[in-house]
Amino acid sequence: MPKRVYSFGGGKAEGKGTQRNLLGGKGSGLAEMAGLSLPVPAGFTITTEVCTEYNAHGKKLPAALTKDVEKAMAQVEKIMGRKFGDPNDPLLISCRSGARKSMPGMMETVLNIGLTGKTIAGLIAKTKNERFVLDSYRRLIQMYSDVVMEKAAGVEPAEGRGVRQQLEKELEKVKHEKGYKSDTDLTGDDLRNLIVAYKAKVKEVLGKEFPDDAGEQLWGGIKAVFQSWNGKRAISYRRIEGIPDEWGTAVNVQAMVFGNMGDTSATGVAFTRNPATGENLFYGEWLPNAQGEDVVAGIRTPNPLNEATRSSSAGDLPSLEKAMSATYTELVAVRNKLEKYYRDMQDLEFTIQDGKLWMLQTRSGKRNGPAAVRMAVDMVGERLIKKDEAVMRVTPAQLDELLHPILDPKAEQAGQALAKGLPAGPGGATGQVVFTAVDAVAWTQQGKKVILVREETNPEDVEGMRAAAGILTARGGMTSHAALVARGWGKCCIVGAGGIKVDVHARTFTAGGVTIKEGEWVSLNGTKGAFYQGQLPMVGNEDNPYFTQFMKICDGIRALGVRANADNPHDAAKARSFGAAGIGLFRTEHMFYGKGSEQPLFLLRKMICSSTADERRKALAELFAFIKSDVKGTLEAMAGLPVTIRLLDPPLHEFVPNREDERQKLAQALGISMEDLAKRADTLHESNPMMGHRGVRLGITYPEISETWVRAIFEAAAELLKAGKKAIPEIMIPVTCDKKELDHQAALVKKIHGEVAAKFGMKRIPYLYGTMIEIPRAALRAGEMAETAEFFSFGTNDLTQMTFGFSRDDIGGFAPDYIKAGILPADPFQTLDQSGVGELVELGIQRGRKRRPKLKVGICGEHGGDPESVKFCHRVGMNYVSCSPYRVPIARLAAAQAVVEGKAKKK
Ligand code: ADP
Ligand code: MG
Ligand code: MG
Repeated sequence: MPKRVYSFGGGKAEGKGTQRNLLGGKGSGLAEMAGLSLPVPAGFTITTEVCTEYNAHGKKLPAALTKDVEKAMAQVEKIMGRKFGDPNDPLLISCRSGARKSMPGMMETVLNIGLTGKTIAGLIAKTKNERFVLDSYRRLIQMYSDVVMEKAAGVEPAEGRGVRQQLEKELEKVKHEKGYKSDTDLTGDDLRNLIVAYKAKVKEVLGKEFPDDAGEQLWGGIKAVFQSWNGKRAISYRRIEGIPDEWGTAVNVQAMVFGNMGDTSATGVAFTRNPATGENLFYGEWLPNAQGEDVVAGIRTPNPLNEATRSSSAGDLPSLEKAMSATYTELVAVRNKLEKYYRDMQDLEFTIQDGKLWMLQTRSGKRNGPAAVRMAVDMVGERLIKKDEAVMRVTPAQLDELLHPILDPKAEQAGQALAKGLPAGPGGATGQVVFTAVDAVAWTQQGKKVILVREETNPEDVEGMRAAAGILTARGGMTSHAALVARGWGKCCIVGAGGIKVDVHARTFTAGGVTIKEGEWVSLNGTKGAFYQGQLPMVGNEDNPYFTQFMKICDGIRALGVRANADNPHDAAKARSFGAAGIGLFRTEHMFYGKGSEQPLFLLRKMICSSTADERRKALAELFAFIKSDVKGTLEAMAGLPVTIRLLDPPLHEFVPNREDERQKLAQALGISMEDLAKRADTLHESNPMMGHRGVRLGITYPEISETWVRAIFEAAAELLKAGKKAIPEIMIPVTCDKKELDHQAALVKKIHGEVAAKFGMKRIPYLYGTMIEIPRAALRAGEMAETAEFFSFGTNDLTQMTFGFSRDDIGGFAPDYIKAGILPADPFQTLDQSGVGELVELGIQRGRKRRPKLKVGICGEHGGDPESVKFCHRVGMNYVSCSPYRVPIARLAAAQAVVEGKAKKK
């Protein structure tokens, strides 16, 4: 029978830090800290496997668990020198959740378990601190009734009518009557009365007495934690994060230590480095005379940990560094030890009981994109981690976040911030104000961009937080669970903006003397914690020095080249600035779309609607200059980096005008009647143009089209070379399926090359000749194709379309059903189908390289910017991927990660 319970404490632990799957993140962290002889209250972890058992057996705990828990509890009692349920000197414990992957605030924890009519008097006598004992007891009632008696029991109260909120109201009532500002102002008498009121309320709301038996409380707590794995919040969070339902949570039962024993006691949360910026400074928050819940639940805005990281909104709240300097120094030593040991930023929970420091949690801290990149770079510099590890520390999504826009600093300067809060998640965001998580989801579904404004940060809002473009709260600290979660998602987030007043019922908030209604626009600067009325403009965010250094680390590791898809000199310049090593796809037809396209488009139309080769040649001759200048500008922008230029690809019919005035103009230019034009256009009509007369097929029926393009390319290159510049064109033939097509066009390319070289008095204009592989037959016949082609570029959009027989434009109609039914794991147009389409790609590369070992191979579909697909391209030995300019950094990172993953696999 597998071991179900693992003990820790007293400088020893049965479990290890590597047993995350079994013990959960919290349990393995506690075991590891205990093993390192850090001050950890003794306790034990019930494994995640028991949770699975519990769920599988109709929510029943295995019978044998009772004995295991009793044994482990006896050991805790021995280490702590107190007994659970002992009327004279009772041991109190907490029941804490903790899954494999951290899910901050998504599951439940109950503190102060073991306080009953029998034990209260004993604890008061022992501690001589009645106020503390009563405060702990009222907290126990609050948490236990909420977590065990309501949530775990499946009671679903109406919005705002949960037992916890109702008890909270009782507390507020007393505070209001007595004119207290803080919970710590409550006297012993106040608490005694409050407890009576609490118990009555619990009975009234839930119809049950609060249990007065330590053992019943313990088992109620354990079950409730297991149960919380299937709580609403936890399920939502798992869906968003893709965490499997089968994992389950562990339960950590741990001796209580108390931060609420008076002014020499405190509780706090700290990060070994700033999780919002990555700066290497010990960062955190704490509250004197409080329990852990107060900080992480986000209901109070806490004090700063030290002076170096004090923010302006902390006002003159004392730092721990000043208030309890000896304990702070001890905590700094723990920080240094843990960061060295884990070699990563840690998120710590601690409690100070009467001047003594206790550690309650360590885990790899959640961070946003900018912080992840900075920490990876810094830690390499500090020799804490190797470069290989550094590239694995940043996810492609985090890197993407770094490139996201920020509020235009000029607009910010011109505007007036309404108020300031804590910069919990950086970047910029603008959106319309909503006041509930439900609205945030609903409005976003309607295509709106929203800012979720709340009184406090609260993990219950998880889905609304996910949907919102940004989050703004009046209360709560940087280390609250909700802030943690927002940061993990790279959300722009401001918390603890004390200057705002939220009125959820009126759906307004006021700040800086201004009242903002639901639906009005606001703009957040999450890096500074400032926010503004109205929709401020946003600008790009590319010149981050850590970004540049991080990309250098990636480039040093990766083997795969990264190019960009660009269709004009402007995009080409952008691609280069993002580090593209060339252009993998230059679609010449893009000169016929959008700004400045009127003239070339008109000439193209003339060519299309010509009826004789002669007419066509004339139109092409006019078009020639446009193609040449387009190609030349792009070759020049790439300054000698290779540019793969695709010959005309789309079916001609796409370009025939529909508008009456345009048709008239065209008919006139061709000297034909409107009827004749209509006839000519009709003959171009195809019933399935995607598989019709397009790509290389046009070049075969109308060689003069290919000739014009090829001549334009060679002349552009020759002119640049003559001017002492560099140019490497790669001529790419689209939509091929047979070597003979390639031979046909190759002859034509050779002929034009000769003519242009002669015209410019040059021996040779360097170029490559190759093809797209986007038809399954081309992949199968790749061996022959490679006899003529010097390079392949896999056009995985069309290849996916034709391999599956799914039309890319129509897949939206059924893909969601396919994904839901588990038939497809994902949309194959977004992430490459590695087993099917991938097999054709692999086969194509093998067969091609067998004939031509130096065959250059790349990919130019949408997939070139998808991290998983990029890794696949690395594994099958491509030379490069090509993607849109903005995805280039992501592809560079994915390519580096592919190398590191490959090494790990070999080991
Ligand atoms: P979460 O995973 O939601 O943070 P935790 O189990 O970490 O839940 O507990 C919530 C808060 O209670 C934390 O601040 C934690 O430090 C505190 N806490 C948990 N167990 C104890 C304990 N045995 N003694 C003192 N504080 C505790
Ligand atoms: Mg915690
Ligand atoms: Mg194509």
